[in-house]
Amino acid sequence: MGAGLVKITLATGTMSAQGWRDALAHAFAAANLEVDLQLWDGRPIGARYAIVWLPPEELFAAEPGLRAVFNLGAGVDALLARGAVPAGLPIVRLVDAGMAPKIAEYVCFAIARITRGLDRFAPPPHGLRDWNAARPRDEAPRVGVLGLGAMGAAILEAAARFGYPVAGWSRTPRRIAGVETFAGAGQRDAFLARTQILVNALPLTEETRNLLDRRAFAQMPRGAHVINIGRGGTIVDEDLLAALDEGRLASATLDVFRVEPLPVEHPFWSHPKITVTPHLAAPTPYGPAAEQIAAALKKLEQGVQASDLPGYLDRSLGY
Ligand code: NAP
Repeated sequence: MGAGLVKITLATGTMSAQGWRDALAHAFAAANLEVDLQLWDGRPIGARYAIVWLPPEELFAAEPGLRAVFNLGAGVDALLARGAVPAGLPIVRLVDAGMAPKIAEYVCFAIARITRGLDRFAPPPHGLRDWNAARPRDEAPRVGVLGLGAMGAAILEAAARFGYPVAGWSRTPRRIAGVETFAGAGQRDAFLARTQILVNALPLTEETRNLLDRRAFAQMPRGAHVINIGRGGTIVDEDLLAALDEGRLASATLDVFRVEPLPVEHPFWSHPKITVTPHLAAPTPYGPAAEQIAAALKKLEQGVQASDLPGYLDRSLGY
């Protein structure tokens, strides 16, 4: 163990400070870690670690003794965009921590809604009252998932269990039983061309920003659907709207947006082919996430290198 009480500063941004403080205190106690966990209030405490979500930029300058930063989510794009984390300071993000099954559930519900035409049976006054409404087609549409990490893998596994032909696309080549896999820019068009329901589960990086644009939508079969649980910046909003209006795409289910909260005047809210959900596909679950952070922090205190931890961020890749 490192010398003395481990001082930790906690900055939870838009998340609940109370929820995280309680869960982390519980997890540290269960891991037999003696810590001094303090909510960031603008005053430095000589912290050895920071646990953060959308932290104030001044935190990092005020706490020069930090050995690592823990990100209270799977996506680190917002943290990196702030540019405040010093270059050499290791960042550790959450890996699954209970989010992957929730994401898979959200996506499978969105898929079922598409394949059963559930919107036809909305409550009055809009829905049909037609017992003989057309039954779903027997043939299952081909589902394709961008990103084969914790989220993408869980989505593919769930969709395959429900009988959908599944494929996935990643940066490096992957082999997954029962999944047709594609990798890299060279195989992206072939992946899009076979995909009737496209799920984005990519992290937002310089390479994935604006990836789903007019050109990408044009590669997909006419009448395809898009589900986005990754990050809003991967989709070009105007190109998505155009593809929906032209009938090239049939629907979009969007959980994440370029600007969050999505401004009330944004056209996504009122578009008849778009379902907006306010980034709720998989809120970070306090308990499992706190346990994961406590376990990682304990390893660091035992001398394990941050780069050997699950969730260690490769800053050169941005995810
Ligand atoms: P992850 O484990 O890091 O996996 C990322 C996947 O994306 C990997 O398969 C990676 O390829 C692939 N990838 C990255 N850059 C690529 C590129 N340029 N071209 C092709 N593939 C690329 O991430 P995760 O834990 O699954 O999370 C993914 C994202 O989901 C998060 O970053 C976050 O934005 C989002 N998320 C959203 C919610 C929500 O509630 N909506 C909740 C949790 C997470 P390799 O396999 O080759 O490395």
